[in-house]
Amino acid sequence: MSERMGAGDYYEILGVPRGADEKEIKKAYRSLARKYHPDVSKEPGADEKFKSINEAYGVLSDPEKKAQYDQVGHEAYTSASRGSYTGGGGFSGGGYSSDFSGFGDIFDFFGGAFGGGFSHRTRGPAAGNDTLMRILISLEEAAAGTEKEIEVHHTEPCSVCSGTGSETKRLKSCPKCNGTGQIRQVSQTVFGQFVRMGTCPECTGRGKIPEKRCPACKGTGHTRVKRTVTVHIPAGVDTGMRLRMEGYGEAGESGAPSGDLFIEVHVQSHDRFTRHGDNLETTLDITPAEAVLGSVREVLTIDRKSVELKVPPGIAYNTALKIPGEGIRRKGHPGDLLVRIRIATPKGISKEEKELYERIIEIEGKKGQKKGFFSGLKGKPK
Ligand SMILES: [Zn+2]
Ligand SMILES: [Zn+2]
Repeated sequence: MSERMGAGDYYEILGVPRGADEKEIKKAYRSLARKYHPDVSKEPGADEKFKSINEAYGVLSDPEKKAQYDQVGHEAYTSASRGSYTGGGGFSGGGYSSDFSGFGDIFDFFGGAFGGGFSHRTRGPAAGNDTLMRILISLEEAAAGTEKEIEVHHTEPCSVCSGTGSETKRLKSCPKCNGTGQIRQVSQTVFGQFVRMGTCPECTGRGKIPEKRCPACKGTGHTRVKRTVTVHIPAGVDTGMRLRMEGYGEAGESGAPSGDLFIEVHVQSHDRFTRHGDNLETTLDITPAEAVLGSVREVLTIDRKSVELKVPPGIAYNTALKIPGEGIRRKGHPGDLLVRIRIATPKGISKEEKELYERIIEIEGKKGQKKGFFSGLKGKPK
């Protein structure tokens, strides 16, 4: 069967059969172009016809365009090339179909919505759309994992009619298309009458409609509901990661599964910790004397646990000391906490401290170490 539903106009314009080869197409084009060339023809509407002939030939003479045209059909091809492919081929649809498009926040990002638009609709119920939500969590929550309650607004199969859209839960053959899902569309053009096949607006191509329209869902089989869902967020999540909750997307057609809900995580920045993969980093200010002599300091971890940190004598500025296992608590591989040491120069020191620093400088001078650590204090305005 070479008659393809929905395709045809370009072939009809050139007056060639669907299986016509390059030669036939060219021949038909030449004879028509000669006949309707605006300089030659006195026929009313020849101008328009000439344009159509050229448009048709432009597509059918290009193997790549022709293949695409044959695949998607005239309706889809011409609307796609106008850059406004809508999927329905220009039908606005009855009340039944209108609910099958434009559910608020649909991100059909997996599985290619675009490809789906061009492929021929397979019979059988279609699965629901996936949806995407964003969630903001703290670094503490990302480090330890958490459970969050979120509100999900989505469609579910209508409980009154079990998702069938029919009060009796039974469907009947669509009278408009006799159950084929396709209807003939007849249009009058200067070329005569054209018949093309399009998706039936009454049943949206399913071939079946509710026996008795369900009053609760107006025959759509779906109801829009708000659900509170507990999301388990594992330790180690990072900004941009997506958690998948199977079946929490939009309801599918009757008998088909719902889509999935994807939750995209955004981790807030923290005032004390920065994240490097699974490691966390914080800073610790120590005094010059502690840097020289070493010290033991308390460090607060991300979960506010106090850990003793040994600062070795003679530590250099910006050295990172590691506290193992106190980073992101990823299962099996917890990260580490890196404590970057900063040496804070004291201001407003006491008389006694001043005397001691002066004594150190004196000693350093005797040693001839002009470039000792405290030499920077020399001549510093006090
Ligand atoms: Zn219902
Ligand atoms: Zn129908």
